Amino acid sequence: MKNGRVHNFNAGPAAMPLPVLEEIRRDLLDWNGTGMSVMEVSHRSAEYAALEREVDADLRELMGIPERYKILFMQGGATLQFAAVPWNLMINGRAAYIDTGSWSSKAIKEARRYGEVEVAASGSADGYRKIPDCSQLEVAPDTDFVYICENETIGGLTWPEERKPRTSAPLVADQSSMFLSRPCDVSRYGLIYAGVQKNLGPAGIAIVIVREDLIRDVPDPKMPTYMRYDVQAANGSHYNTPNCWAAYCCGRVIKSLLRSGGLEAAHERNKKKADILYEFLDSSSTFTAPVERESRSLMNVVFTTGDKDLDAKIAKDAADVGIVGIKGHKSVGGLRASTYNAVSEESVEALVSFLKKYQTTQV
Ligand code: PMP
Repeated sequence: MKNGRVHNFNAGPAAMPLPVLEEIRRDLLDWNGTGMSVMEVSHRSAEYAALEREVDADLRELMGIPERYKILFMQGGATLQFAAVPWNLMINGRAAYIDTGSWSSKAIKEARRYGEVEVAASGSADGYRKIPDCSQLEVAPDTDFVYICENETIGGLTWPEERKPRTSAPLVADQSSMFLSRPCDVSRYGLIYAGVQKNLGPAGIAIVIVREDLIRDVPDPKMPTYMRYDVQAANGSHYNTPNCWAAYCCGRVIKSLLRSGGLEAAHERNKKKADILYEFLDSSSTFTAPVERESRSLMNVVFTTGDKDLDAKIAKDAADVGIVGIKGHKSVGGLRASTYNAVSEESVEALVSFLKKYQTTQV
């Protein structure tokens, strides 16, 4: 362990890049010559306004976000967006959702409170081990949007590009656990949102990237003002006091991604880490990785020995030697290593050699 830091495979909140944490520590008592930390400045100050402009510009550069999209910073995590998306976008009262596991199921349940939800495809018949092919999906002409969870954090699945829906309705994606992990053609989407506590920063913000024509005056007096995209957009995401701290941290991580070769380079690093892990799991007689190869997540590698007590013991033994966070989500059990942007190849190698040793001594 370097600098007393563990190998962090937590699913979120998750590892942040060490050089960024060092910058944050440096800035903590005196940010930008203000004599204050960023948590202490006014969100209406010129310094904070400059930070917001910089984060917006840097994120646009990193993802290649076209001008016609607005970037909103909202609180309430990705969970608030399960409600905000249908409430803002269901103008005709109808949306199509693809059910690929836990997080899309939660989004479907929430959306049903706001309108008619058609589950247009589902991975449930395959035990959520495979992303359904939706390339030929057809939806009713008045469908307000088609919704996918682009990376299922618990099941460990991600959407292969060629299986994504291509309909005339705007595509909405929950990118929480793969945001900024690879290049993204934003123009393919009507709206993208992501909780930032995986690849980007501390919990407390969801970033919403929304095409301007989808920002509308929703004629529902019951809708909380905070949740209205038109209000958030008109007020530069500070209709109320924003999470300045999280916005600042995200800004530092975005800069570090720009410095280290952008999203292409991040994707190469992420592919390499996931390959190391999946190759080991596929060649192992002790562990299996149940997700179909083409649907496997590069961010959340799910695996198991098939024996729940042994899985639990391995997660505990790993934590004892500084390899933390490999216990599977409580709803599914098993093991899961989240290999987000800030997790190094060295940490992945450490995990594999830990699992290997285990394999020979325990079996
Ligand atoms: N969507 C996905 C894909 C997630 O992984 C999570 C959190 N793990 C959420 C939504 C919910 O995020 P939050 O806790 O920020 O509300």
